[in-house]
Amino acid sequence: MEYSYISHLYCPKCHETYDHQAINNLCKCGAPLLVQYDLEALKKDGYRPEQLKGREPSLWRYHELLPVTDPANVVTVGEGMTPLIPMPTLGKQMGIDNLYMKDEGIIPTGSFKARGAAVGVSKAKEVGVEELAMPTNGNAGAAWALYAARAGMKTSIIIPKDAPTIQRNEMAAAGSNLFLVKGLISDAGKIVGKAIQEKGLFDASTLKEPYRIEGKKTMGLEIAEQFNWKMPDVILYPTGGGVGVIGIYKALNELKELGWVEGDLPRLVAVQAENCAPIVKAWEKKKDESEFWENSDTIAFGINVPKALGDFLVLDAIYKTNGCAIAIEDEATLEEGLSIAATEGSFICPEGAAAFVAARRLRESGWIKEDETVVVLNTGAGIKYPDTVQVDVPVLEKDGSI
Ligand SMILES: *Cc1c(COP(=O)(O)O)cnc(C)c1O
Ligand SMILES: [Zn+2]
Repeated sequence: MEYSYISHLYCPKCHETYDHQAINNLCKCGAPLLVQYDLEALKKDGYRPEQLKGREPSLWRYHELLPVTDPANVVTVGEGMTPLIPMPTLGKQMGIDNLYMKDEGIIPTGSFKARGAAVGVSKAKEVGVEELAMPTNGNAGAAWALYAARAGMKTSIIIPKDAPTIQRNEMAAAGSNLFLVKGLISDAGKIVGKAIQEKGLFDASTLKEPYRIEGKKTMGLEIAEQFNWKMPDVILYPTGGGVGVIGIYKALNELKELGWVEGDLPRLVAVQAENCAPIVKAWEKKKDESEFWENSDTIAFGINVPKALGDFLVLDAIYKTNGCAIAIEDEATLEEGLSIAATEGSFICPEGAAAFVAARRLRESGWIKEDETVVVLNTGAGIKYPDTVQVDVPVLEKDGSI
């Protein structure tokens, strides 16, 4: 068998195809590119779930369905195969009998962005990229800076001045050529655009680079494997750029084509923040694309994306799976995060907490049924957000008592 069954890249809008061995960004029509695998050849060569037995518990166990053709190019620090944790106490409280959390909080770099970075950097190495540039709100830049460092690749990263400092420190520690911008991620993106033109750097911006979807897709592969190749009824995902939703949808469709799973795909739910909900607004109006969200603002900075390049793909995944999109207020997110730590012992990120609020609300409205199997993605570690939870702790004198 081959290490990878990648065939080519294609445009989901105009259907133009591209060679995966070349350096690629967007299609010439401006849409993001997707990866096509030769699933027929893979079937013919006898690819079966049994082959995964005994493979390392990382996302590279699915290398046939990943774009890197030579294992020597794999850049890894053990990302993937995160736990799928039952949440019985919370589930009882919400009236959901089978509630699970896929916990990305324990992955290298502390957010699921590690998946996109591991696969994206590995493929960039394979096609000969030496230096990349990207704008970031934090977690993606941190992951790409660290994986690129391991690959011996240079990075130039631009981050909004108001974005959190922990991720900034990670990027600086990784030796990135780092700049703050007095503006938003969209402004950072424009400066990156200029640098790409002037200096010939590789543009690793979200979805302008075709392979992070493939990395994030492995969350879908893992969920299917962890349920022993049965799919849950509902998957809730905190959605910014929407790469996770696009990836999970792509993964489950590939597994279906391979015949590893059967039946309806899970209903995919895009969860956004009340003050940055372009996908929700588009879904409510049954539109195919979203509009730029002015003055976006949320504590869940990973989902502060006013307009996603792949919005049409996210909406398509929601429509095709009979899913939905829902916006959550920051106050409810904060409260849910604390409640999850206190009931289930997981200190999760606000993005993940918002997705749990969404599960609660959709159960209350009857959209989720009591006996359905529901998976909530916690996309990062709560400890990466040291200022989000504010508490007053009593201070004792040295001889004090409690
Ligand atoms: C980036 C990010 C998201 C949003 O991910 P997309 O796949 O771009 O929608 C959610 N949660 C966290 C913690 C993130 O860093
Ligand atoms: Zn195109």
